[in-house]
Amino acid sequence: MRRTLSLFNTLTRKVEPVIPVQEGRISLYTCGPTVYNYAHIGNLRTFLFQDLLKRTFRTAGLQVRHCMNITDVEDKIIRDSQGALPADASNDSRHAAMKALTDRFTAIFLEDLDTLRIQKADFLPRATAYLPQMIRLIQDLEAKDLAYVREGSVYYRIAGLPQYGCLAHLDREGMQAGASVDADEYERDSVTDFVLWKSAKPGEPWWDSPWGPGRPGWHIECSAMGLELLGERLDIHSGGVDLIFPHHENEIAQSEGSLGHRWVNHWVHGEFLMVEGQKMAKSLGNFFTLHDLVAKGVDPIALRYAIQSNHYRKVLNFSFEGLRAAENSLRRIRAFRKRMEGEGQAGSGPWKETLEPLARLGQAREIFWAAMADDLNTPEALAAIFTLISDLNAQDDHVALTREEREEVLAFLDETDAIFAAWPREALSLDAEVEALIEARRVAKATRNWAEADRVRDQLKAMGIVLEDRKDGTVGWRRG
Ligand SMILES: [Zn+2]
Repeated sequence: MRRTLSLFNTLTRKVEPVIPVQEGRISLYTCGPTVYNYAHIGNLRTFLFQDLLKRTFRTAGLQVRHCMNITDVEDKIIRDSQGALPADASNDSRHAAMKALTDRFTAIFLEDLDTLRIQKADFLPRATAYLPQMIRLIQDLEAKDLAYVREGSVYYRIAGLPQYGCLAHLDREGMQAGASVDADEYERDSVTDFVLWKSAKPGEPWWDSPWGPGRPGWHIECSAMGLELLGERLDIHSGGVDLIFPHHENEIAQSEGSLGHRWVNHWVHGEFLMVEGQKMAKSLGNFFTLHDLVAKGVDPIALRYAIQSNHYRKVLNFSFEGLRAAENSLRRIRAFRKRMEGEGQAGSGPWKETLEPLARLGQAREIFWAAMADDLNTPEALAAIFTLISDLNAQDDHVALTREEREEVLAFLDETDAIFAAWPREALSLDAEVEALIEARRVAKATRNWAEADRVRDQLKAMGIVLEDRKDGTVGWRRG
């Protein structure tokens, strides 16, 4: 059965049903990471929200074709990769230094996705592999008089596009026609012509172009890759709210300026994240990457749940207390799953009003999907699961559910886990087994039984489990 889902559309500021251009098939573009550092949990919140979005469509019976770009050339990447090179370094060595940095952080980013059970996109294009497409797109904008050259750089002429400002709901009066900026990011109060191609400055890697040596601006990267890989009409384009302006506004200007028609039907943005009530900042000591949290012993799946159990359009206040609450919620769902996997005990007979477990289950499923279909209302959807758990636990205490009823309940847990990825069926027993082996290894090491410790490590290795000794002395693990 295929369900229709509705999402808040930043373009119209309304919750609207998503009707795909091709029936049953969603095309989804999400702005990926700029790979010059570890992703912090604010970034990861956006990727977790998009994973929820994608999994919900898939579980609702639609196909999703997803493209997430990897930005591997950009102002901050150049700043961080070129410092160690001499002033007269060759262009090749400048490119090599940039690639070394972005390769390293791309690999770390993909590992983070695995750790958080975020499904990889069908396309993960690196911007530097799409230079010809970017150059062609800029040439096309030039031909349409939407771009102009100034001192070897090319700028977008925003006055040439009537719909410029439609996404960020800008006041066109306030725009500064003719003023232009080179930076990839700028403030909303300076709406100006933005850069498409930047002429090479000393100390920067460059590519050849019809305008001389230079490199692409950040915004053109997404338009070129999105158009190339997902086509001229996109169902959903998504990112964090910080990307609405200028990045997404500029993407619309580039793509629609070239196409001459609407590019994206639904623009969907996730809100940002605070830490313990404060804005996350390195200077406040509340800046966390996934690696920081894992080193503190945080279970990544509890983090996943803590983030996804909040509505994506509300500012999320991340806290360690919230993480503990998430762990408790997960424990409750997993214990219920275990109970349903087992056989019921003979209870004390009929209880209060007798409840029809399958009817109750049907009701929970209906409430769950109505909530998810209404702009991904995860708090309500999860509440439906917890009410079901309370009701069926109480019922099972008195009159055991039959095997058939238990299987139906387990199927619903599978269905909801396909979205939340936090209470899987088979992994539970494997998790318990791995934990037991890790404990056995800890005991062997503590008792200086090195042969036994090595044997257990090999056994875990054969199971495809990679151990990670943490700074605090505990041992983490992941599937290798
Ligand atoms: Zn983008």
